[in-house]
Amino acid sequence: MRKLELHWQILIGMVAGILFGFIMTLFDWGPKFVQDWINPLGTIFVKLLKLIAIPLILASLVKGISDLKDISKFRNIGLRTIAIYIATTIVAITIGLVLVNLIKPGNGISEETIAKLTETYSTDSGVTSKLEEASRQKQSGPLQFLEDMVPDNAFAALGDNSLMLQVIFFTIFLGISMLLIGEKSAKPLKKFFDSLNEVVLKMVDLIMLTAPIAVFALLANVVVSSGDPDLLLALLKYSGVVVLGLLLMIVFYSIVVASFSRYNPLTFLSKISPAQLLAFSTSSSAATLPVTMERVEEHIGVHKEVSSFVLPVGATINMDGTSLYQAVAAVFIAEALNFDLTLAGQLTIVLTALLASIGSAAVPGAGMVMLVIVLEAIGFPPDKLAIGLALIFAVDRPLDMLRTVVNVTGDATVAMIVAKSVGKMGEPKVKNWDDHLEEVK
Ligand code: ASP
Repeated sequence: MRKLELHWQILIGMVAGILFGFIMTLFDWGPKFVQDWINPLGTIFVKLLKLIAIPLILASLVKGISDLKDISKFRNIGLRTIAIYIATTIVAITIGLVLVNLIKPGNGISEETIAKLTETYSTDSGVTSKLEEASRQKQSGPLQFLEDMVPDNAFAALGDNSLMLQVIFFTIFLGISMLLIGEKSAKPLKKFFDSLNEVVLKMVDLIMLTAPIAVFALLANVVVSSGDPDLLLALLKYSGVVVLGLLLMIVFYSIVVASFSRYNPLTFLSKISPAQLLAFSTSSSAATLPVTMERVEEHIGVHKEVSSFVLPVGATINMDGTSLYQAVAAVFIAEALNFDLTLAGQLTIVLTALLASIGSAAVPGAGMVMLVIVLEAIGFPPDKLAIGLALIFAVDRPLDMLRTVVNVTGDATVAMIVAKSVGKMGEPKVKNWDDHLEEVK
């Protein structure tokens, strides 16, 4: 019998998890049961993906750079990548701003709902912790991000998943220096990283075997931990605007893929769908990164010289879904709380949402932390920030899941067009977890 394709297996796991979660909410003991006995399966899966993220970036980026054989090519790829990332993020923010100004979801929300949301969430630890995190991030100077990118201890950087840009910096430095010592001297190290890269990609295959069960657990937990359904409904119009914007982004990527790389966008979407489904289930581009890399390289055929740089950098700085959401949320909050937003204010949103999405960590809920910075930049009264966040907190998790799908799709799209533009697209070479099983049995 032909085995069901991975994305169908994952999708079935997701639907079953959602149904199971709903059934469990019918019982008093249900939510606790899911949290204690089901959720750990999802958490372990996310931990496994994070476990291999840094070794994968290290091995594949060193391999990618040393395969280039020529530093000027790397500069070419680097500049294109950053320019295209900025361009797609500006498109996302513009789409968000146009939609929110046309549909005006903030006008339709009643005083009563605002009062109820404020009462429920403005002192909630979820909201207050986001405000605290934002004020920690804000106290830095303009060039802080450059300073933060350079590690002072390579092993400390490699030991901390939140320091992905430091790892990328160190690895690029290492890769370029390897090119500069000449092929012969670099050979042993190159062989080591080539082999490590293959091993880590095999680990991705093995971890993915458990993906259907893991997404079942993750989604069941999301359902039992979600808030009051009435409040979710009250925010339907706002959520609808964000979702519509995110859908338009997927259409935008499809057009870009079709026109710049002459690749069928439906095939593209189906090839990266396991990564999208995981992005949805985990709400984390960083946790999804190993799968995104595997799909883009092995299933689409983007060469490692491009994907090993474009994708890890994208996971950390390119968040189109997040920036779109920040633009919509900022205008929605301003409108709902009668804060006058001028044209200059809207332009400030474009700039700050661009920077805020670059600064957002690739983990669940990070977009909301940086939203605080966008709100402050438009002069939103600081004493009302908690109320502002309280307004959108109830729907943040589902929107986070969706914007993470867009973040990951954006990275994959850019990897493809950069690869095409520098002649680094090849044939897909799919490897399965059991390709060499017979030899070791
Ligand atoms: N969860 C998102 C990501 O990992 C970031 C965010 O928008 O909160 O891409």
